Amino acid sequence: MTQTRDKSAALYARAETLMPGGVNSPVRAFGAVDGTPVFFKSAKGAEVETADGDTVVDFCMGFGPQILGHADERIVQAVAEAAAGGMSYGACHAGEADLAERVLAGFPWAGKVRLVNSGTEAVLTAVRLARGVTGRNKIVKFNGGYHGHLDAMLVKAGSGLATQGIASSAGVSASVAADTLVADLDDRESVEALFKAHGDDIAAVVIEPLPANNGLLIQRPAFLQFLRDITTKHGAMLVFDEVISGFRLHYGGMGDLVDVTPDIVTLGKIIGGGAPVGALIATADTMNHLAPLGPVYQAGTLSGNPLAVAAGITTLDILRTTDGPDGDIYARLEAFGQRVEDKIAAAALPNFQVVRKGSLMWFYFSDEDAPRRADHIDANIATRFSALHRALLGEGLYLPPSAYEVAFLSSAHTDAHIDRLIAAVQKHA
Ligand SMILES: *Cc1c(COP(=O)(O)O)cnc(C)c1O
Repeated sequence: MTQTRDKSAALYARAETLMPGGVNSPVRAFGAVDGTPVFFKSAKGAEVETADGDTVVDFCMGFGPQILGHADERIVQAVAEAAAGGMSYGACHAGEADLAERVLAGFPWAGKVRLVNSGTEAVLTAVRLARGVTGRNKIVKFNGGYHGHLDAMLVKAGSGLATQGIASSAGVSASVAADTLVADLDDRESVEALFKAHGDDIAAVVIEPLPANNGLLIQRPAFLQFLRDITTKHGAMLVFDEVISGFRLHYGGMGDLVDVTPDIVTLGKIIGGGAPVGALIATADTMNHLAPLGPVYQAGTLSGNPLAVAAGITTLDILRTTDGPDGDIYARLEAFGQRVEDKIAAAALPNFQVVRKGSLMWFYFSDEDAPRRADHIDANIATRFSALHRALLGEGLYLPPSAYEVAFLSSAHTDAHIDRLIAAVQKHA
C-alpha cells in the first residue's frame, strides 16, 4: 500500500467542486476518520483496486449488500443478460414475482412483498402503511436507530449523524418531528411511558431488531418480545427494519432468530445484491392496504427494475443453496466472525473488544460490557477509531470510515484476509 493517495486526492478535489462535500452520501467523505476518501476503481471478490493503484481488502462491502463479495460472476452475468433485454420497462415482468417468492421464502409468516428502490423507501412505505392500517399518526423509534433519511426517522438517528454530532436534520418540519417519539433501546420504561402518554395514537414501533447503524447494539430477545407484547396490547404495529440484518445471519430475518414475529419487515441491501432494491413484507391482509388494492398510495418508476431484480434473484439463490460450490455460506461467515472474535479476545488488548453477530463486527474501544443502547456508547471512541482506520488502511485493509459503522465480512473473504485483519488489529488497536 502506497502511503500517498494523490489520485484519490485529485479526484476528491474535483468532486468537491461538483457535489456537496464531494459525495452522494455523507459518511463517504471520511469526515469521521479525518482524511481524504479512498476512491475505488474496481472491485472483485473481497479486494478493491483503488484509484491510486493499491489493492485493499474490503471490510465494508458496500455497507452490507456485497455478502458474496464484489462482482460475483453469476450476478454479473445475470445483470448483463437482463440489461440486454431492456434497462427498465415501467411494466410488469416475470422477474418481479421470482424475486418476491425468494424474499418471502425467508419469512414464512409473511404473504406479500412490495419492491422499492432503497431501504429508505422501504421504511417510508412501511411507516405510511402502518399509519394507513391503524388510522393513527405517531411512530416510536429508538435513540440511535437509523432507518434511512426519510423525515419521520431523522430524529436521533445513527452513524452519519452521531459522527457529526447532530441529533437530527435541518429541514425536518416541527410537525413531522412531533409525530416521531423516541425511546431508548433495552429500556422498557421508556417505551411504556410513550404508550402511557400516546397509546391511542401510536401507529407503529420501528426498530432494527439487530441495531447495526450506531455501533452494534445487540438487543436482548426479551426486549424484542416486550415490544411485540406492548404493540399488540395497544393495537400498534411492530416494524422490524431488517435492511441490514435481513438475509445477513441466515436465509431470513433476525425476528426468526429471536422468535418474535413483527407486523411489517423492511429489507434492502442484500436482497439487491448491490443493485438499488428495497422491499417491505407483511401478511397479505396488511399488504393489500397498498395501492392499487387499498388506499395507501405508493409507486415507483424504477421499482422492480429488471437489472436490480436479476441481481437480487441470483444473490438469494446463491445464499439459499447450501450444497453448491459455495458450501453453506452462513456457516462460513459465522466461522470467519468467530475466528476474529476469538483471536482478538485471546490477545486481551486493553480497552478494546470486538462486538459481533455473525458476519457483522463492531470494533469497540472499551473493556466495559458491550452497550445495548446508544447513550451507553463510550464517547471517546471516535479518536481511537480514526487512528485504527488510518493504520489499517496503511496495511491495505479498508474499514467503514466511521467508529459507529459495523464492519462486514463476505463469503469472498479468505482465511488469509481474515488473518491479516486479526494481525493488523492486534498491532494497531
Ligand atoms: C441502510 C439502512 C437503511 C437505509 O437504506 P438505504 O438503501 O441506504 O436507503 C434503513 N434501515 C437500515 C436498518 C439500514 O441499515
